[in-house]
Amino acid sequence: MGNPLQDLRTAVEFASVRQVIEISEKISSFDKLSEIVEADLAALEADKIPSSWRDSIVCGELQFGFIVEADGIPTVTGSASTTVDAVCQRCLEPFRQALSIEPKLLLVGQQEAVDEFEDYEVWELQEEALRPQDIVEELLIMALPFSATHDNIADCKTFASYDDSATDLRRPFAALASQMKRNKKDLDE
Ligand SMILES: [Zn+2]
Repeated sequence: MGNPLQDLRTAVEFASVRQVIEISEKISSFDKLSEIVEADLAALEADKIPSSWRDSIVCGELQFGFIVEADGIPTVTGSASTTVDAVCQRCLEPFRQALSIEPKLLLVGQQEAVDEFEDYEVWELQEEALRPQDIVEELLIMALPFSATHDNIADCKTFASYDDSATDLRRPFAALASQMKRNKKDLDE
């Protein structure tokens, strides 16, 4: 028994058995994604590169099926998430970037015409046979932010130096808000 995530079968074959696939794979088993993460981390000094970046787990589930209302087109839905090591483009320090995907795809062959259907996305297959892992990988790559930065400003070194004046930073906005309120009051009167 192999890992169905890596099976190469047609979309119809996966759909006809309503294949459900548990995902629990290391980043290292996704070649293209690993290459991108590695290239990103290469911007760091060697001692700052997180040693275990390849071991982050991608976990989730995929379900194949057919969508009767759209002429029995094969579908794949589900979700997957992981955390990849990345370099913050603001402070140039490594951080852990959460990624998640929720595919809801109509699997169609090349040049196969298909109408827009509810909130499904049309996924054009390059070959007749597909590897579910490749779909997960492409979606994760698309989910990577164009410019990765610390989600939480408090973690970002660029902003850490402003810590002491953090309250002051907020003041101009507070002043602006009260100014606006005053102007509005003036206008109302
Ligand atoms: Zn940062």
